[in-house]
Amino acid sequence: MAPLDDVVLTIDIDWAPDFTIDFVAERLISRQVRATWFVTHMSPAIARLKQYPNLFELGIHPNFLSGSTHGDTPDAILRHCIALVPEASSVRTHLLFQSTLLLRQILDQTRITTDVSLFLPGTPHIRPVEWLCRRRTLLRIPYFWADDFEMERNIPCWCLAPHLGVGKGLKVFAFHPIHVYLNSADIEIYQTLKHRVPKISEASANDLNPYIQTGQGACALFKEVIAYLAADGRSACIQDIYNRWQDLRNSPQQLDQRIQ
Ligand SMILES: [Zn+2]
Repeated sequence: MAPLDDVVLTIDIDWAPDFTIDFVAERLISRQVRATWFVTHMSPAIARLKQYPNLFELGIHPNFLSGSTHGDTPDAILRHCIALVPEASSVRTHLLFQSTLLLRQILDQTRITTDVSLFLPGTPHIRPVEWLCRRRTLLRIPYFWADDFEMERNIPCWCLAPHLGVGKGLKVFAFHPIHVYLNSADIEIYQTLKHRVPKISEASANDLNPYIQTGQGACALFKEVIAYLAADGRSACIQDIYNRWQDLRNSPQQLDQRIQ
C-alpha cells in the first residue's frame, strides 16, 4: 500500500469561464493525471469533466456567504450544490467558510465523507484528521498550497521542488482554472483584470489573453505538478486518500508506520 505522502491536485472552479476549465482539463487528460474538482455551477465544460470518472472526482464548492447564488440558507445551499454533483463525496467551502454547526449539517444532510476546507500553508507531516459528530465521522484532509495564497507572499515560489521539500506528509495543491490559464504570478495584474473585467465568469479569451503572464506563475507550477504525477504514475483524488485512510485505520500497526 502506498504511504500517505501523496501529492494531490485539487481545483476550485470558482465560476471560471468554460475555456479556462477546458484548458486545465486537457492538460490533465493528456497526461492521464487524476484530480479532484470542486464545482460551483453547471456548464458544458463541467459536463465534459463528468465524462472522465476514472480520472476526475467532482466535489462541491458551496458558497455559504451572504448573497450566495447557491441559496439563502445552509440547507438550500447544500441542496443546490448536491443537485449539481449528486455523486459528490468531497467538499471544500468557498473562501473556507466553516463552523461546527455547518460541518454537522453537511454530515446530516449529505453523503459527503471528506472535507478539504482546512488550509495549512507550507505545513509538513499533514495527515487526515477524523472529525466526529454523533457517532459519524467527517474525514478532514488539510491542503498545504494554493495559487492565490502564493501570489500574496513577498517572494512567491512557482517551482515544485521547494514545496515538496517541506517534509513528509500529504501535499494537497489547490489551483483555480483562471489562475492556471493566466499563469498568474502577480496579484496586482489580476486585480487590474478584475477591475477592467468585473464579471470574469463571463469573460472571453480576448478579455483574458492580454493578462496572461509569462515565465514563472501558476501555470508553470501546475505543469510541473502534472509532469511529476505523470512520471510517478500514481496520481490520486481526494477519495483515493479517504479510501486509503480507511484501509490504514483498520490496520493500526500499518497506520503507525505510515504517519511517522
Ligand atoms: Zn472558492
